[in-house]
Amino acid sequence: STFHDLGLNNDLLQAITDLGFEKPSEVQEKAIPLLLQSEGDLVALAQTGTGKTAAFGFPMLQKIDVNSRTTQGLILSPTRELCLQITNELKAYGKYCNGLNVVAVYGGASITDQARDIKRGAQIIVATPGRMKDMISRNLVDITKIEYSVLDEADEMLNMGFKEDINDILSHTPADKSTWLFSATMPREVAAIAKDFMHNPHEITV
Ligand code: AMP
Repeated sequence: STFHDLGLNNDLLQAITDLGFEKPSEVQEKAIPLLLQSEGDLVALAQTGTGKTAAFGFPMLQKIDVNSRTTQGLILSPTRELCLQITNELKAYGKYCNGLNVVAVYGGASITDQARDIKRGAQIIVATPGRMKDMISRNLVDITKIEYSVLDEADEMLNMGFKEDINDILSHTPADKSTWLFSATMPREVAAIAKDFMHNPHEITV
């Protein structure tokens, strides 16, 4: 299939052409139509390097309202490096989505600068759990209107001890949002997160 067949809009298709992506990867073929067409939850078993960032990034970019300054998408990832990588990928994928503002939130950098960037109107925040929890407790961010949340590399986040932070962060988001969980492995702890936070998730494996 082609990216066009998956239901992506022209702004995204143009960016995909610019990037030179010729055809969707397996996880993209499975996840993109599903996420575009239904509002439910998703558990995806996928390794790094499979194109999973675009698998959740394209649908999120297509579904959010870039004319609003409200934060609608929240992506949690285990490390600063991954957080920046996802942010840069989303900016490249969304280069023709006029008004799009993606902000990275992670430790070891100025929280004031990150809060200022969010205040300007970030539709999507890509965050590490520790810094995100910190920003919430200091009232520097409003995630009460989140419609789409992604737990990326969920197994790694749990290995790094972020379970409580993730619980805390998600408790500040609406119960009726969609949650998309990506993990390379499915240990009991990840299955428990899926059970606690998700309702009848779609499941895909690549
Ligand atoms: P990820 O698994 O999301 O870390 O993606 C791995 C790399 O593959 C990234 O550098 C992407 O830019 C690239 N990529 C993602 N999807 C495609 C695709 N359909 N065709 C070619 N490259 C891709």
